[in-house]
Amino acid sequence: MSGVTLNKVIKRYGDVQVIHGIDLQIEDGEFCVFVGPSGCGKSTLLRMVAGLEETTEGQITIGSRDVTRMDPAERGVAMVFQTYALYPHMTVQENMGFGLKMNGHPKAEIAEKVAEASRILKLDDYLKRKPAALSGGQRQRVSIGRAIVRGPEVFLFDEPLSNLDAELRVEMRVEIARLHKEIGATMIYVTHDQVEAMTLADKIVVLKFGEIEQVGAPMDLYRDPDNKFVAGFIGSPAMNFVSGTVKGGRIAVEGLGLDLPAPAAASDGQAVDVGLRPEHLTVTRDGPHRVDIAESLGGVSYAHLITGKGEKIVVEERGTHRSKSGDSVGVEIDPEQVFVFDAKTELRLR
Ligand code: ADP
Ligand code: MG
Repeated sequence: MSGVTLNKVIKRYGDVQVIHGIDLQIEDGEFCVFVGPSGCGKSTLLRMVAGLEETTEGQITIGSRDVTRMDPAERGVAMVFQTYALYPHMTVQENMGFGLKMNGHPKAEIAEKVAEASRILKLDDYLKRKPAALSGGQRQRVSIGRAIVRGPEVFLFDEPLSNLDAELRVEMRVEIARLHKEIGATMIYVTHDQVEAMTLADKIVVLKFGEIEQVGAPMDLYRDPDNKFVAGFIGSPAMNFVSGTVKGGRIAVEGLGLDLPAPAAASDGQAVDVGLRPEHLTVTRDGPHRVDIAESLGGVSYAHLITGKGEKIVVEERGTHRSKSGDSVGVEIDPEQVFVFDAKTELRLR
């Protein structure tokens, strides 16, 4: 069994603390995604699990082993990087088998493990090629193959798809999901892309400034965010926020001309930010808001509105009748789909 546990994990570079005491339990076989904006500490945390960065304080365990002070090679992990780091003079086959060869494994065993990884990643036709003769996606498959061949207890991925073009990214994302299904090993995956987090994860860990904002299954974070940061980060296009004031158990959202029920935790006079997802809003004809830009993607359109109060919001439209730039429109929302946050603390009010 090889779950991963982080216990009050801290990282300091000299005087600067960048990871502030992370507690986290990743179950055996789980696909866990660390997501957050650039610089929030995702890579640092992953590299601490890998043993590529020293852990300043706290404890990291893999399975029942305390690995905090172990060398990377002893931890039973294999890492896949954004840059593929393949040996240019070796073939695909040699690249994948190199780690085992260096550790003195018998030739027959290496060949068997490389063949298995090649089958899983559909690399059979490329085994004799050198990296220069491969596409970006194929190179990244080889670097994943190199990790598989080592038979790690835990796979660690650091933004493995960020160097690929958009189409390939989607394709590789599906392949990584399939890989996890087939191998069933514990995987920790770092990305700044919330779509990758939503689609791949069993468990998402949202990080900000070296601290955990929220941990949960993708749809739990989407449906029930604890704070404005998570609400704005998870979901695409991002949640809209408009200001409102609580009065007599209602929230007046002046900018949108909405009068909404206030959650129990809200108190009279409290300034709040009201969160409305683009997919939950409906455009109505003839209202006080101006359609600035209407973007049509085919099956779906996004109307960028400027409200009567000058706030910007995005509304998703799917029907046959869609708004056009310059239209004057109103908006409606199901009160059940409204999220309310304290304007100062940014914590959710339920
Ligand atoms: P992410 O992967 O989420 O973009 P990183 O983990 O790379 O973020 O970085 C987290 C923070 O730690 C950043 O503020 C970064 O500047 C800082 N940092 C990373 N590596 C070092 C280092 N070697 N020395 C000092 N600060 C570092
Ligand atoms: Mg990083």
